[in-house]
Amino acid sequence: MATERCNKLDTMSSIEQRLADVNRRIRQAEQHYQRSAGSVRLLAVSKTHPAGAIREALRAGQHSFGESYLQEALLKIGQLHAEPIEWHFIGRIQGNKTRAIAENFQWVHSLESVRHAQRLNDQRPQDLAPLNVCLQIMVDEEESKGGVTPDQAQLLIAEIARLPRLRLRGLMTLPAPVQGVENQRVPFRHLRMLREQLKSTDLPLETLSMGMTDDLEAAIAEGATIVRIGTAIFGPRQTKT
Ligand SMILES: *Cc1c(COP(=O)(O)O)cnc(C)c1O
Repeated sequence: MATERCNKLDTMSSIEQRLADVNRRIRQAEQHYQRSAGSVRLLAVSKTHPAGAIREALRAGQHSFGESYLQEALLKIGQLHAEPIEWHFIGRIQGNKTRAIAENFQWVHSLESVRHAQRLNDQRPQDLAPLNVCLQIMVDEEESKGGVTPDQAQLLIAEIARLPRLRLRGLMTLPAPVQGVENQRVPFRHLRMLREQLKSTDLPLETLSMGMTDDLEAAIAEGATIVRIGTAIFGPRQTKT
């Protein structure tokens, strides 16, 4: 019992420490790449990690969490319903399973079809604020990672922007992993340039959701406003994702 409590405390403090390290990395990258202080938000990606790990991050001041698997996410959202958490859905939207997303999340980063956009719009409860959404873009032709091609984006954006229960915030990408900051910057630069082409006064598309544990500096260099970090905060995942 005593050892159990001791081990638990160890794990807990490491999440707090790692969170502080990640926040430090973000602040340093902001400075290094002449981004304004506080312009990059941290989304803590808690997929595969239990509610207890989220609670610990919460206690350390982190309030936005990202989840990829709907069933697992709903379980944790239920367990943590009393906590002040902003939930972001970042996984593939499966078939017609949009209602639970519309009812339980504040953000969806992984929108890639008008059909899903319409369903989320229709299913968003009236007593909740419009659902914040990002359109996921495939910037490097790596099909397995999902998203629409840059060519398709303009048409989709026009259609999504018309839906009153969605608020189109910007673009998201999940490029294939590559080594070295300069290589990592290439797809992120493409996303930033695409945003410049697509934005308008009515639709600033201010959000660029890009950057994970291994490439957050490259993403911040290219204008990320939300970085999605899992491993560096919660440690390695058991299940393959
Ligand atoms: C898992 C995941 C992340 C976090 O990845 P890490 O490398 O663990 O930081 C970010 N974005 C998406 C879409 C993910 O699925």
